[in-house]
Amino acid sequence: MIRSVFKKKASNPILKRCANDDHTRLRKRYELWYHILEDQRGTRVTMDGKEMVMLASNEYLGLYDHPKVVEAGQKALAKWGAGTMGARSANGGRSFHTDLEERLANFLGKEACHVSSAGYLSCMSSITGFAQRGDIVLVDKNMHSSVWDGIRLSMADVERFSHNNPDHLRSLLEELDPSASKIIAIEGVYSMEGHIGKLPEILDIAHQYECFTVMDDAHGIGVLGKQGRGTANHFGLTDRVDIIAGSLSKSLGSTGGFVAGDEAAIEYLRTRSKQVIFSAALSPCQAACAMAALDVIESEPEWLERLWSNTRRYKALLDELGLDTWESETPAIPIIIGNREKAYYFWKNLCDKGVFTIFATAPGVPPGKDLVRTAVSARHTDADFEIIETALRYAASKI
Ligand code: PMP
Repeated sequence: MIRSVFKKKASNPILKRCANDDHTRLRKRYELWYHILEDQRGTRVTMDGKEMVMLASNEYLGLYDHPKVVEAGQKALAKWGAGTMGARSANGGRSFHTDLEERLANFLGKEACHVSSAGYLSCMSSITGFAQRGDIVLVDKNMHSSVWDGIRLSMADVERFSHNNPDHLRSLLEELDPSASKIIAIEGVYSMEGHIGKLPEILDIAHQYECFTVMDDAHGIGVLGKQGRGTANHFGLTDRVDIIAGSLSKSLGSTGGFVAGDEAAIEYLRTRSKQVIFSAALSPCQAACAMAALDVIESEPEWLERLWSNTRRYKALLDELGLDTWESETPAIPIIIGNREKAYYFWKNLCDKGVFTIFATAPGVPPGKDLVRTAVSARHTDADFEIIETALRYAASKI
């Protein structure tokens, strides 16, 4: 049996820090995160023997168990085995990587693409692959932590601008050394808030100040644009974004990540990014599932249509209940409660009524924005919505 870290007598300062950490103790006591699900099928999951409706998946199109996706994964596993046993730079490169990269580049409207075994690695590398000491990265303050980690590792200077605020970005640029190379880092769709990045305004500014642009579109792919080609496509601005990075674990129903851009930029990334050079390549099964999901996205448009009709239906329900959704414009919809304790009970009441959501509090969200994060899927059915509605009415009545 594993002995609890809380009971163990700590023998050095780091172990003492682990044993006495209040955040960890609170997390364990209230069982807020790290839930273990015993089963998953469509929008239903089982936790502690109880079936629940999943209302917090990033898997917007619901393709993770689509028969074509599952079959492709099984076939790849049978043909290639489980792993790649090495980095792309060494012995890990396979033809299914280049096939997927070509396909993704095409889908996104970019010349080239590089896939990695996690979106986190890809998004980190979208900064570390390009930024260096002496450069300046201007970053939206609500950016995903993968990009923040990339910025720190790159040794570039950093300037943060207020969330989705082009005016603030411009005012920062006016003050900066014009001779320094600059990168602007934004998200296409901000995952916690559900906001669409103000791409047209930000790209105009980038052009004026000759900035390289990196967009993490993990939550825009499969959701926005023609056939779900993402935020740049949604605005008709694909050619003007230098780098589109993202994840295979959201609408593509798999696991892994990508960075797409001009061929020169992607080849440079392959030379420079340590996340690319020293991490084992994407597995055969993950690659095949993502590839099959792209096939489904292109051949079965009904999933994207259902995603948006479900989003409208869910949003109308939240509005009717008078819940604050932080002006979300996408299927990623936070319910802002604004107080840690109330947000906890709101989340717990939903859970007790059979709806799985995610509790988020500071520092994960700005102070006063304690929230329950929810996300709609194309797969939610009328029966799911009945359960969701009953649970939300109950939780809202208890605030
Ligand atoms: N970027 C954003 C905006 C994300 O939300 C996530 C995942 N939460 C990632 C990057 C990392 O992707 P992955 O989970 O595939 O590592």
